[in-house]
Amino acid sequence: MSGILYLVATPIGNLKDITLRALETLKEVSAIICEDTRRTRILLNHYQIRKPLIAYNEHNKFTQTPKIIAILKKGENLALVSDAGTPVISDPGYYLVREAIKEGIKVSPVPGPAAMIAGLIISGLPSDRFVFEGFLPKREGRKRKRLLNLINEERTIIFYESPYRIMRTLKTFLEIFGDREIALCRELTKKFEEVLRGKISEIIEILNKKLEKEERIKGEIVIVMKGKEE
Ligand code: SAM
Repeated sequence: MSGILYLVATPIGNLKDITLRALETLKEVSAIICEDTRRTRILLNHYQIRKPLIAYNEHNKFTQTPKIIAILKKGENLALVSDAGTPVISDPGYYLVREAIKEGIKVSPVPGPAAMIAGLIISGLPSDRFVFEGFLPKREGRKRKRLLNLINEERTIIFYESPYRIMRTLKTFLEIFGDREIALCRELTKKFEEVLRGKISEIIEILNKKLEKEERIKGEIVIVMKGKEE
């Protein structure tokens, strides 16, 4: 009998945001597959969990996946975690999950935090229907092309963005979508958690004021944008 590949969600900031079942699973498995072993060690040390770690990322996935499948086939249970939140969501794991399914290995979720859901629920924007766009392409041309495809989208749209690109992205949003309502959610569950709600132009103004005061825009960001008015 093959082992089980557990996909375990971990905190997006606050180390207390971990479920009892996630802790139980991490203690029970033979090894933990993770993105950055240093990041995962911080979490494991906090909960006094000592387990072998297997590094898994976009660069080594083709060589690591067969090794991981072989371990599972021997009957060992493994857990996949990412640096933050739910693995496989804008994080490595999709290829491993596909290969495990092909090999008839059971893949089981241990759900928990995901930044997109945390951002959506506090946005104050319609949450009955939404789409998740993840990270936009870095190149301006590709980014615009992706955004133009969303111009008639009526559902609330969720994006991940880096603080280095946020200003440029908001200006492109304004150009393409007009002055829609957004929520810019920063550092969720962390000490400097902040939500800016308003029209895109208003948020740009707030960020400009921060920059005038030479405050860098820092931290991890989820942008939630209202869809096209029906
Ligand atoms: N798998 C993760 C999840 O479940 O949300 C996301 C991983 S993705 C590589 C990281 C991005 O998620 C960040 O660049 C940011 O856009 C968003 N993110 C992660 N943690 C966040 C937080 N505490 N507050 C706001 N956004 C966050």
